[in-house]
Amino acid sequence: MSDACKLAAGNWKMNGLRADLIEARALAESCAAMSCGVLLCPPATLISAMAEAVAGSKVMVGGQDCHANVSGAHTGDISAQMLADSGARYVILGHSERRADHAEQSADVAAKAQAAHSAGLVAIVCLGETEAERDAGQTLDVVLRQLRESLPEGAAAANTVIAYEPIWAIGTGRTPTLEQIAEVHDALRVNLPESAISLLYGGSVKPGNAAEIFAIANVDGALVGGASLKAADFGAIVAALDAA
Ligand code: PEP
Repeated sequence: MSDACKLAAGNWKMNGLRADLIEARALAESCAAMSCGVLLCPPATLISAMAEAVAGSKVMVGGQDCHANVSGAHTGDISAQMLADSGARYVILGHSERRADHAEQSADVAAKAQAAHSAGLVAIVCLGETEAERDAGQTLDVVLRQLRESLPEGAAAANTVIAYEPIWAIGTGRTPTLEQIAEVHDALRVNLPESAISLLYGGSVKPGNAAEIFAIANVDGALVGGASLKAADFGAIVAALDAA
């Protein structure tokens, strides 16, 4: 754990209906006494309702993507300003599923992060290698290049969080060794534009492995997919982070 702010961020991906807001309310109750940051990023359809459901609690709400422009002819897209207007305070950008499904490049991610900053949102910028890149010994090259190319001018601790998410660990139940996570986070820390930027680890974080991951020196929290959908699981991960 470094001096950067601790954050447990949940990514609901394309999951969740209004009935599932009960999980957000339960999380808000269970996290009331925690001092670390707690964030849920539901699908855009739920941002406004979730922000209302957890109003006055520790739980903050974020989006999962935004357009680089403020407004215009971009059917189906959502601007950073719209997310902020709906009650979001953060936005996940450059998730590997967006990079794969929508061919997002690091330059696109940097433009979106710039838009997020202009709208007053904190951008959670995701980086991570494929399994083939890890096997080829290219992990640090890939991740540090993504870091350089995905951050806009002015990225700082107040407006940016980095999430290291090895693509092969997302949703697979597989995780890197603690040494492998430490190696990447140590390299990221010394290459950040501001060393107090929070560094999250993401990829199959569960209640059972959270404490050992949060004990790594340069891990400031987690970006959690599947285990963020249920308040009991995510609450246990938040508690592990709070205790770290
Ligand atoms: C993610 O989607 O960012 C993620 C880390 O997913 P999971 O926790 O399910 O591996």
